[in-house]
Amino acid sequence: MLETITTCPICSSTQFREWLQCTDHLVTQEQFAVQQCQQCQFLLTNPRPDPNSIINYYKSDSYVSHSNKSNSPVNFIYRLVRAHTLKQKLSLLNRYALHGNLLDYGCGTGHFIKHAQSRNWAVKGIEPDSEARQIAGGLVGLENVYQSLDGFTQNSFQAITLFHVLEHVHDLVDTLSLLVNLSTQQGVILIAVPNFRSHDALKYQSDWAAYDLPRHLYHFDSKSMLNLANKVGLKIVAQLPMHFDSYYVSLLSEKYRKSSIYPLRGFYSGFISNLKARRTKEYSSLIYVLQKK
Ligand SMILES: [Zn+2]
Repeated sequence: MLETITTCPICSSTQFREWLQCTDHLVTQEQFAVQQCQQCQFLLTNPRPDPNSIINYYKSDSYVSHSNKSNSPVNFIYRLVRAHTLKQKLSLLNRYALHGNLLDYGCGTGHFIKHAQSRNWAVKGIEPDSEARQIAGGLVGLENVYQSLDGFTQNSFQAITLFHVLEHVHDLVDTLSLLVNLSTQQGVILIAVPNFRSHDALKYQSDWAAYDLPRHLYHFDSKSMLNLANKVGLKIVAQLPMHFDSYYVSLLSEKYRKSSIYPLRGFYSGFISNLKARRTKEYSSLIYVLQKK
């Protein structure tokens, strides 16, 4: 079933306008719309599959963050990017957070928490997908991976991470508020999301792979992240680039455009996106470092 959002989750406005239409390139080939809140300019997928039916839109062998199987060029690049970003994510934790308990919300198959555990973080992962959760449990211990946030203690995590997860969460504000409660006062929350102001987003428009409709329910830029942070009692401490996402996203976008030389075009576009972002700071994906006010 589809559900229609009538009130902006950030500013409560009820006025929306059309932003663009996108095809679900990955699974169903259905059309979805992105709408913009007229008051705060937040972008959301509307209407969208409700929490019970969204699972139908993840049923693809190529949904890579839930599988480790395929050897296509796209998955090969995905794994290269993941290996690099693992190191980047951990060095960010070590730079901004006090060492201790880490909660990875939407941990997928658990590669990040496994890496963090090997560096002496006490890790917990949350993952709704049962197959991915089993794999993650095999890596870090089944007792450390949960289906939901029920039963966790307030003020208990020095670091909470959401890497390309928040855009998938139906209850955006409620979920983030719960996570804020679980964070210690000095704790940091790292949120990585695609940035629709990036050069690759502007270039590919409705073919931009990081719109990823209807799996991505929300679409962020730094202004909407600031508004959301304010709403749940967080401040933005830093905003950092994810340099490799532009390559992966451009490659996939070129594939959606059916370019016969998509690896080449994708690489070029990813490079140009990063080059432009050195001046504009509008990288393809951004990591926000947040802390309680
Ligand atoms: Zn709004």
